[in-house]
Amino acid sequence: MNGQSTLQERYERLHLRVRSACEAAGRPPASVTILAVSKTFPASRVLELAVLGQHAFGESYLQEAVAKIDACEAGRQPVLAGRPATPQTGRLEWHFIGPLQSNKTRPVAERFDWVHSVDRERVARRLSEQRPAGLAALNVCVQVKVSDEAAKSGCAPGEAVALARQISRLPGLRLRGVMAIPAPSDDHAVQRAQFARVREVFELLRHEGLEVDTLSMGMSDDLEAAIAEGATLIRVGSALFGTRSAQ
Ligand SMILES: *Cc1c(COP(=O)(O)O)cnc(C)c1O
Repeated sequence: MNGQSTLQERYERLHLRVRSACEAAGRPPASVTILAVSKTFPASRVLELAVLGQHAFGESYLQEAVAKIDACEAGRQPVLAGRPATPQTGRLEWHFIGPLQSNKTRPVAERFDWVHSVDRERVARRLSEQRPAGLAALNVCVQVKVSDEAAKSGCAPGEAVALARQISRLPGLRLRGVMAIPAPSDDHAVQRAQFARVREVFELLRHEGLEVDTLSMGMSDDLEAAIAEGATLIRVGSALFGTRSAQ
């Protein structure tokens, strides 16, 4: 990533990439939502991007995320002061996309709008129990593992229907779809084949009568392949915010 480019330039470039990937796939650009993955980047960058019109943000590390959500809530008024209230400058939406242990679910249930990384029933049950009554149901994707992925999380594709059905019955949760993090590959055909397997799981849920609308797959380096295979939400970090320093 070019260190000289500004956040606004990267944001505009990303929208062009998404638009041309959608055109190539014969899909309307509005059919793909961009989740800006802000992990390791400070609240100030989140707020800068919010001013440009981005409202959905993804985080992977719980402690960092909660501090950042607090900072954004505190900082949003000054940053947005003087700008007309538009849907873009309204409330930010927070998505938890990292590995989730069942003893760490409470802050996710209390502070997030979405969780993409539910891969077992125990986690789902706790999230539902801990979701505050005053909030809308927590939007949930089932994370599936379709290859020998870098991510250790994810249920087997064959377990996805049963888990999704359990989630759909929990009162604090709203089942939305499927998420995956396939092993990175430079080969577009390999990327597509992996994303196609994720899409098969998504279609299987629909076939089983589950109401799902979200196929969360594709990141900075493989979003074109993901869009070609039907992604409705792409999770983009470095192409927006720049290279992350090592964790
Ligand atoms: C970090 C991360 C991303 C973003 O990755 P980039 O390659 O920086 O776009 C997407 N999804 C998940 C689950 C992540 O942890």
